[in-house]
Amino acid sequence: MPLPYPSIKPCPCGSGRSYASCCQPAHSGAAPQTPEALMRSRYSAYVLQDEAYLLATWHPDTRPDGLDLTDGTRYLGLRVHGAEGDKVSFTATLRLPDGQRAQLREHSTFTRLNGRWVYLEGTAP
Ligand SMILES: [Zn+2]
Repeated sequence: MPLPYPSIKPCPCGSGRSYASCCQPAHSGAAPQTPEALMRSRYSAYVLQDEAYLLATWHPDTRPDGLDLTDGTRYLGLRVHGAEGDKVSFTATLRLPDGQRAQLREHSTFTRLNGRWVYLEGTAP
């Protein structure tokens, strides 16, 4: 089960908007309209440990069987560098289970499946 998160608080993805007006609708079933919106909602899902959402928005060809979101990794922040077409580049700041900070930089590729954007794959820049 995802962690509870108040609708009026700033969205975990760092957009500056409230959770209710940013990633919450996607987590509640609405289809994100752009790859960036989907990417942000997936980042927020990592923060909130919403495994079901992450798997549901992952292309079946590349989707893992499951995710361990309770290994102690904390998601500290997201910066989106750019979005163009089906690509989004970003840096996520993490604190690993051993306490070390890490920066995850990724170019994510998204594709449409049955009319909805899904995550296909990510590569390091
Ligand atoms: Zn958001």
